[in-house]
Amino acid sequence: MTESREYVRPTVESPVRVTFVGSGDAFGSGGRGQACVHVAGAQASFLVDCGPSALPAMRRLGVDPNDVELVLLSHLHGDHFGGLPFLLLDAQLPSRRTRPLTIAGPASTAERLQQATEVLFPGAWREHWRFPLEIVELEPERRNEVARVTVTPYVVSHPSGAPPLALRIEVGGRVLAFSGDTEWTPVLSSAADGADLLVVESYTFDRPVPYHLDYRTLIRHAPDLRAKRLVLTHMSAEMLDRVAGLDCEYAEDGKQLEL
Ligand SMILES: [Zn+2]
Repeated sequence: MTESREYVRPTVESPVRVTFVGSGDAFGSGGRGQACVHVAGAQASFLVDCGPSALPAMRRLGVDPNDVELVLLSHLHGDHFGGLPFLLLDAQLPSRRTRPLTIAGPASTAERLQQATEVLFPGAWREHWRFPLEIVELEPERRNEVARVTVTPYVVSHPSGAPPLALRIEVGGRVLAFSGDTEWTPVLSSAADGADLLVVESYTFDRPVPYHLDYRTLIRHAPDLRAKRLVLTHMSAEMLDRVAGLDCEYAEDGKQLEL
Protein backbone atom coordinates (compact mmCIF):
# COMPACT_ATOMS: atom_id res chain seq x y z
CA MET A 1 0.00 0.00 0.00
CA THR A 2 1.82 3.10 -1.16
CA GLU A 3 -0.84 5.41 -2.58
CA SER A 4 -1.87 8.42 -0.59
CA ARG A 5 -5.53 8.73 0.36
CA GLU A 6 -7.65 11.72 1.13
CA TYR A 7 -8.80 11.50 4.73
CA VAL A 8 -12.41 12.54 5.19
CA ARG A 9 -13.81 13.27 8.64
CA PRO A 10 -16.84 11.14 9.49
CA THR A 11 -20.29 12.61 8.91
CA VAL A 12 -23.18 12.67 11.37
CA GLU A 13 -24.59 9.53 9.75
CA SER A 14 -21.33 7.67 10.43
CA PRO A 15 -20.34 8.84 13.88
CA VAL A 16 -17.29 6.65 14.31
CA ARG A 17 -14.75 5.70 11.67
CA VAL A 18 -12.15 3.05 12.37
CA THR A 19 -9.04 2.96 10.16
CA PHE A 20 -6.48 0.17 10.37
CA VAL A 21 -3.22 2.09 10.18
CA GLY A 22 -1.26 -1.11 10.84
CA SER A 23 -2.76 -4.59 11.01
CA GLY A 24 0.34 -6.76 11.14
CA ASP A 25 2.28 -8.71 13.71
CA ALA A 26 5.62 -7.61 15.21
CA PHE A 27 7.61 -8.88 12.23
CA GLY A 28 6.09 -7.17 9.22
CA SER A 29 4.41 -10.37 8.00
CA GLY A 30 2.69 -9.84 4.67
CA GLY A 31 4.34 -6.41 4.40
CA ARG A 32 1.87 -5.10 6.96
CA GLY A 33 2.53 -2.32 9.42
CA GLN A 34 2.64 -2.95 13.15
CA ALA A 35 -0.35 -2.48 15.42
CA CYS A 36 -2.15 0.84 15.15
CA VAL A 37 -5.83 1.70 14.70
CA HIS A 38 -7.16 5.21 14.26
CA VAL A 39 -10.64 6.00 15.56
CA ALA A 40 -12.30 9.27 14.56
CA GLY A 41 -15.67 10.75 15.33
CA ALA A 42 -17.21 14.07 16.19
CA GLN A 43 -16.25 13.45 19.81
CA ALA A 44 -12.62 12.36 19.51
CA SER A 45 -9.68 11.35 17.34
CA PHE A 46 -7.44 8.73 18.89
CA LEU A 47 -5.14 5.79 18.25
CA VAL A 48 -5.31 2.34 19.74
CA ASP A 49 -1.68 1.20 19.91
CA CYS A 50 1.15 2.91 18.06
CA GLY A 51 3.67 0.50 16.56
CA PRO A 52 6.97 1.70 15.07
CA SER A 53 5.46 1.95 11.55
CA ALA A 54 2.52 4.10 12.69
CA LEU A 55 3.81 7.54 11.77
CA PRO A 56 4.69 6.86 8.10
CA ALA A 57 1.47 4.86 7.70
CA MET A 58 -0.60 7.72 9.15
CA ARG A 59 0.98 10.10 6.68
CA ARG A 60 0.21 7.74 3.78
CA LEU A 61 -3.42 7.52 4.93
CA GLY A 62 -3.78 11.25 5.46
CA VAL A 63 -4.25 11.02 9.24
CA ASP A 64 -2.65 14.16 10.69
CA PRO A 65 -0.70 13.21 13.85
CA ASN A 66 -1.46 16.66 15.27
CA ASP A 67 -5.19 15.84 15.15
CA VAL A 68 -4.73 12.80 17.40
CA GLU A 69 -5.74 13.74 20.94
CA LEU A 70 -5.23 10.40 22.65
CA VAL A 71 -3.21 7.22 22.26
CA LEU A 72 -4.53 4.17 24.10
CA LEU A 73 -2.06 1.34 24.63
CA SER A 74 -3.05 -2.30 25.03
CA HIS A 75 0.38 -3.39 26.28
CA LEU A 76 4.01 -2.36 26.32
CA HIS A 77 5.57 -4.48 23.59
CA GLY A 78 7.58 -2.62 20.97
CA ASP A 79 5.20 -3.43 18.11
CA HIS A 80 2.36 -1.79 20.08
CA PHE A 81 4.01 1.28 21.63
CA GLY A 82 7.37 1.65 19.83
CA GLY A 83 6.01 4.34 17.51
CA LEU A 84 5.42 6.76 20.38
CA PRO A 85 8.97 8.19 20.62
CA PHE A 86 8.67 9.08 16.92
CA LEU A 87 5.21 10.57 17.41
CA LEU A 88 6.44 12.67 20.33
CA LEU A 89 9.53 13.94 18.52
CA ASP A 90 7.52 14.71 15.42
CA ALA A 91 5.11 16.71 17.59
CA GLN A 92 7.97 18.53 19.31
CA LEU A 93 10.01 19.33 16.20
CA PRO A 94 8.69 19.41 12.61
CA SER A 95 4.96 19.30 13.35
CA ARG A 96 5.22 21.94 16.11
CA ARG A 97 2.23 20.58 17.94
CA THR A 98 0.33 22.85 20.32
CA ARG A 99 -2.71 20.68 21.01
CA PRO A 100 -2.72 18.59 24.21
CA LEU A 101 -1.87 14.90 23.84
CA THR A 102 -2.91 12.17 26.26
CA ILE A 103 -1.24 8.76 26.29
CA ALA A 104 -3.04 6.10 28.34
CA GLY A 105 -1.84 2.59 28.97
CA PRO A 106 -1.06 0.06 31.67
CA ALA A 107 0.79 0.78 34.91
CA SER A 108 4.42 1.88 34.22
CA THR A 109 3.57 3.41 30.82
CA ALA A 110 5.22 6.71 31.81
CA GLU A 111 8.48 5.04 32.84
CA ARG A 112 8.68 2.68 29.86
CA LEU A 113 7.88 5.44 27.38
CA GLN A 114 10.55 7.68 28.84
CA GLN A 115 13.08 4.83 28.71
CA ALA A 116 12.20 3.95 25.10
CA THR A 117 12.47 7.57 24.01
CA GLU A 118 15.84 7.99 25.72
CA VAL A 119 17.23 4.76 24.20
CA LEU A 120 16.22 5.78 20.68
CA PHE A 121 16.91 9.52 20.93
CA PRO A 122 19.26 10.22 23.86
CA GLY A 123 18.50 13.52 25.54
CA ALA A 124 15.15 13.86 23.81
CA TRP A 125 12.82 13.24 26.75
CA ARG A 126 11.51 16.45 28.26
CA GLU A 127 9.80 17.33 31.47
CA HIS A 128 8.03 20.07 29.50
CA TRP A 129 7.13 19.46 25.88
CA ARG A 130 5.99 22.28 23.62
CA PHE A 131 2.46 20.85 23.95
CA PRO A 132 0.63 19.65 27.09
CA LEU A 133 1.42 15.93 27.47
CA GLU A 134 -0.50 13.83 29.95
CA ILE A 135 0.32 10.18 30.61
CA VAL A 136 -2.45 8.22 32.26
CA GLU A 137 -2.03 4.75 33.75
CA LEU A 138 -5.31 2.93 33.39
CA GLU A 139 -7.02 1.13 36.23
CA PRO A 140 -8.23 -2.32 35.15
CA GLU A 141 -11.91 -3.28 35.37
CA ARG A 142 -12.93 0.33 35.89
CA ARG A 143 -14.41 2.90 33.49
CA ASN A 144 -11.56 5.39 33.00
CA GLU A 145 -12.44 8.77 31.45
CA VAL A 146 -9.56 9.99 29.29
CA ALA A 147 -9.71 12.80 26.71
CA ARG A 148 -13.51 12.47 26.27
CA VAL A 149 -13.26 8.71 25.73
CA THR A 150 -14.35 6.09 28.25
CA VAL A 151 -12.10 3.05 28.42
CA THR A 152 -12.46 -0.06 30.55
CA PRO A 153 -9.33 -2.23 30.53
CA TYR A 154 -9.25 -5.92 31.37
CA VAL A 155 -6.01 -7.71 32.24
CA VAL A 156 -5.28 -10.45 29.71
CA SER A 157 -2.50 -13.04 29.43
CA HIS A 158 0.55 -11.74 27.55
CA PRO A 159 3.68 -10.98 29.63
CA SER A 160 5.13 -7.66 28.52
CA GLY A 161 6.67 -6.09 31.63
CA ALA A 162 3.41 -4.40 32.60
CA PRO A 163 -0.20 -5.58 32.88
CA PRO A 164 -1.37 -6.44 29.33
CA LEU A 165 -4.84 -5.13 28.58
CA ALA A 166 -7.86 -5.77 26.42
CA LEU A 167 -9.66 -2.46 25.96
CA ARG A 168 -13.37 -1.74 25.91
CA ILE A 169 -13.84 1.77 24.54
CA GLU A 170 -17.01 3.87 24.55
CA VAL A 171 -17.05 6.75 22.09
CA GLY A 172 -19.74 8.52 20.07
CA GLY A 173 -22.44 6.13 21.29
CA ARG A 174 -20.47 3.12 20.06
CA VAL A 175 -18.54 0.43 21.90
CA LEU A 176 -15.27 -0.81 20.43
CA ALA A 177 -13.30 -3.69 21.92
CA PHE A 178 -9.67 -4.57 21.29
CA SER A 179 -8.18 -7.82 22.50
CA GLY A 180 -4.56 -6.65 22.37
CA ASP A 181 -2.28 -9.68 22.29
CA THR A 182 -3.33 -12.56 24.51
CA GLU A 183 -4.01 -16.25 24.72
CA TRP A 184 -7.69 -17.05 25.27
CA THR A 185 -9.00 -15.66 28.53
CA PRO A 186 -12.64 -15.32 29.61
CA VAL A 187 -12.18 -11.59 30.24
CA LEU A 188 -12.30 -11.13 26.46
CA SER A 189 -16.02 -11.90 26.78
CA SER A 190 -16.39 -9.05 29.28
CA ALA A 191 -14.43 -6.64 27.06
CA ALA A 192 -16.46 -7.56 23.97
CA ASP A 193 -19.95 -7.97 25.48
CA GLY A 194 -22.43 -6.17 23.20
CA ALA A 195 -19.63 -4.24 21.44
CA ASP A 196 -20.31 -2.81 17.99
CA LEU A 197 -16.85 -4.02 16.97
CA LEU A 198 -14.28 -6.43 18.36
CA VAL A 199 -10.79 -6.25 16.86
CA VAL A 200 -9.17 -9.47 17.93
CA GLU A 201 -5.78 -11.07 17.54
CA SER A 202 -5.65 -14.20 15.37
CA TYR A 203 -1.95 -14.84 15.33
CA THR A 204 -1.87 -18.38 13.92
CA PHE A 205 -4.45 -20.65 12.32
CA ASP A 206 -4.34 -23.62 14.69
CA ARG A 207 -0.76 -23.73 15.97
CA PRO A 208 -0.68 -22.78 19.64
CA VAL A 209 1.81 -20.02 20.44
CA PRO A 210 2.21 -19.12 24.10
CA TYR A 211 0.32 -15.99 25.09
CA HIS A 212 -1.24 -15.55 21.64
CA LEU A 213 -4.60 -16.49 20.20
CA ASP A 214 -5.02 -18.88 17.26
CA TYR A 215 -8.04 -18.84 14.94
CA ARG A 216 -9.33 -22.29 15.94
CA THR A 217 -9.37 -21.34 19.61
CA LEU A 218 -11.00 -18.03 18.82
CA ILE A 219 -13.78 -19.67 16.79
CA ARG A 220 -14.35 -22.24 19.52
CA HIS A 221 -15.01 -19.38 21.92
CA ALA A 222 -16.92 -17.23 19.42
CA PRO A 223 -20.30 -17.89 21.12
CA ASP A 224 -18.89 -16.29 24.28
CA LEU A 225 -17.91 -13.15 22.37
CA ARG A 226 -21.17 -11.29 22.00
CA ALA A 227 -19.79 -8.54 19.76
CA LYS A 228 -21.85 -7.45 16.75
CA ARG A 229 -18.86 -7.47 14.42
CA LEU A 230 -15.54 -9.26 14.71
CA VAL A 231 -12.42 -8.36 12.74
CA LEU A 232 -9.20 -10.38 12.91
CA THR A 233 -5.84 -8.66 13.17
CA HIS A 234 -2.17 -9.25 14.16
CA MET A 235 -1.82 -12.22 11.80
CA SER A 236 1.39 -14.16 11.21
CA ALA A 237 2.48 -15.24 7.71
CA GLU A 238 0.86 -18.67 8.12
CA MET A 239 -2.45 -17.12 9.16
CA LEU A 240 -2.34 -14.63 6.30
CA ASP A 241 -1.92 -17.53 3.86
CA ARG A 242 -5.28 -18.93 4.98
CA VAL A 243 -7.38 -15.99 6.02
CA ALA A 244 -8.95 -15.16 2.64
CA GLY A 245 -10.54 -18.63 2.57
CA LEU A 246 -12.18 -18.24 5.98
CA ASP A 247 -15.68 -16.98 6.66
CA CYS A 248 -14.44 -14.14 8.84
CA GLU A 249 -13.76 -10.45 8.42
CA TYR A 250 -10.12 -9.44 8.73
CA ALA A 251 -8.10 -6.25 8.93
CA GLU A 252 -5.86 -4.86 6.21
CA ASP A 253 -3.67 -1.78 6.31
CA GLY A 254 -5.76 1.19 5.21
CA LYS A 255 -9.10 -0.61 5.67
CA GLN A 256 -11.85 1.63 7.06
CA LEU A 257 -15.02 0.68 8.90
CA GLU A 258 -17.92 2.99 9.70
CA LEU A 259 -19.91 2.27 12.83
ZN1 LIG B 1 2.64 -8.36 22.30
